Amino acid sequence: MDREALGGSEIEVDPDALRQKYREERDKRLRPDGATQYLSAEGDLAHFKEDIYAKPVARDPVSVDVGVVIIGGGFSGLLASSDLEKRGVEDFCIIEEASDFGGTWYWNRYPGLACDVESYCYLPLLEEVGYIPTRKYASGQEIFEHCQRLGKHYDLYRRAYFQTTVTSVAWDEDSARWIVKTNRDDVFRARFLIRAGGGLNKPKLPGVPGISRFKGHSFHTVRWDYEYTGGGPTGELVGLKDKKVAIIGTGATAIQCIPHLGAWAKQLYVFQRTPSSINVRANRPTDREWAGSLPHGWQKQRMTNFESMVSGIYQEEDMVADGWTDIFSTVFHFAAPDKNKLTPGDVLQMADFKKMEANRRRIDEIVKDPETAEALKPWYNMMCKRPCFSDEYLQTFNRENVKLVDTKGKGVSEITENAVVVDGQAYQVDCIVYATGFGFGVSSEDQMGYEIYGRNGLSITEYWAQGLKTLHGIHTNQFPNYFVTFGPQGPLSINIPFALQAQTEVIAEIIADCARNRVRTFEVTAEAEVRWQEKLKDKAFSRAKFYEECTPSYYNAEGTSIGFLDLFYFGGPVDYTQVVREWLNNGGIERDIERTYLE
Ligand code: NDP
Repeated sequence: MDREALGGSEIEVDPDALRQKYREERDKRLRPDGATQYLSAEGDLAHFKEDIYAKPVARDPVSVDVGVVIIGGGFSGLLASSDLEKRGVEDFCIIEEASDFGGTWYWNRYPGLACDVESYCYLPLLEEVGYIPTRKYASGQEIFEHCQRLGKHYDLYRRAYFQTTVTSVAWDEDSARWIVKTNRDDVFRARFLIRAGGGLNKPKLPGVPGISRFKGHSFHTVRWDYEYTGGGPTGELVGLKDKKVAIIGTGATAIQCIPHLGAWAKQLYVFQRTPSSINVRANRPTDREWAGSLPHGWQKQRMTNFESMVSGIYQEEDMVADGWTDIFSTVFHFAAPDKNKLTPGDVLQMADFKKMEANRRRIDEIVKDPETAEALKPWYNMMCKRPCFSDEYLQTFNRENVKLVDTKGKGVSEITENAVVVDGQAYQVDCIVYATGFGFGVSSEDQMGYEIYGRNGLSITEYWAQGLKTLHGIHTNQFPNYFVTFGPQGPLSINIPFALQAQTEVIAEIIADCARNRVRTFEVTAEAEVRWQEKLKDKAFSRAKFYEECTPSYYNAEGTSIGFLDLFYFGGPVDYTQVVREWLNNGGIERDIERTYLE
């Protein structure tokens, strides 16, 4: 084993003691209500997800015949649109609930918001629009502006119906069209439908009594209330100078906004249930000379290099060379069995133990109060939870006005009219920020809030009642002319746009082909779905081990049932891209798709 490559390899660890500690920490957090513990932002909590960023715009209902309806104007919808445009398909429109493009980058505006995947890989279509991000890790604001840039570049604003929520989607057999209805009484009749929704778009709140009773101010991070806090995404939260603030949650979102809350609130209480692992961020401005020297095709090459690094595909060069590639290269892929006759699995585990131990030592180096430092230490394998990256988060706990309230795995227990309660102790606050993340659903109804009805009124929920069935996570039998991005059984990647693009390119190619050949209906066969299920089994991640050993999170449905990670194709997005390409190039459509033609 390359000792240097392991980063923390000089560190001695006691594997048996760590295994025991990890199990104890996990067991503290397991609870019978699992993923059902949370409250969704519905009913008297619905205000937590209102669009507070834009004024409602009035318009009359529309009745539209169109080639393609795209539901969703986030990265998926933008990529699908640009891919259609590039292939000469112009007859499409986009329906979007928000008031602009951007999806998650429209809704999330909290201070410190940034993407911790390198911007040169993360922001889509940089070469196409001639833009280079200003920093290695772009701020949320810059990413949102890039979404707007894509909207303008591809002339999408005239095709967008904003502030419009889809309420029903049904296939009409006679006209061979999708009938899409909205909350504005619109009716769209579309030959093809692309459901381009995201995965984490439903804010969730802790399942504790009293949230509605709180008389102070409160909001979820996904609708940051700058009218109350003052300032903006870069900080300056002057409205909090005389306020006692609670933030609940210490996931990737909280890690980014806590330094700003700490800098401005009179008093900040950070309520922690499980600590995150905090890796080095090392953000820096873009080197303009480097940017000017990039050859044609550089972005795809860089994205593929990054995705390969984090999928265990050997690369001569680590182009991105950051915290992500460091974690994966040291912990997961390049730890060859060593001389002590450990199995490869044991070696990986040892590498993970050492990496996490190095992580915990970093906390001791940064956080001055030993008790706080101890409480901030994560005790689980690196990928049980999403790794976080920050050079400011841990430092915030050295401030006099910031207190970590460690709930020892139990979470907050109650909200009263003026306080957050943990284990009988009430912390009085003026404001509560919920950084408690997002729910996800398997069915469309769960995820998007509307059901999809295919042939003979069959809903997709019914079709999937005995188990998910798709081809490539894109097509579903009984649902003709219907395409999904970022749906179940598709690819998952650290750099999500890479996986999205793998899907939108294929979808756009198919639709362009259908348009050229006057295809009326396009439907995947049930046999092709069965074959994809076999492939998925082949590539499934080690579920049993993951569930047995990992601390609860949305990745594993809080350690109980089907979790987020169960939904995806686990061959990696580079492999997925090849599989789908080969399918397309080697007669997949002729073999697996039933088509009918317009007269
Ligand atoms: P998470 O689901 O990751 O975190 C929610 C937090 O709330 C956890 O710390 C959780 O604790 C805590 N929590 C839940 N219930 C309670 C309770 N009753 N009492 C106390 N604490 C509680 O949500 P995030 O919004 O942080 O992140 C969601 C996802 O968004 C990330 O995984 C990532 O995919 C994405 N993201 C990406 C970023 C990027 O840079 N690309 C930045 C930010 C987010 P526990 O851990 O114990 O469950």
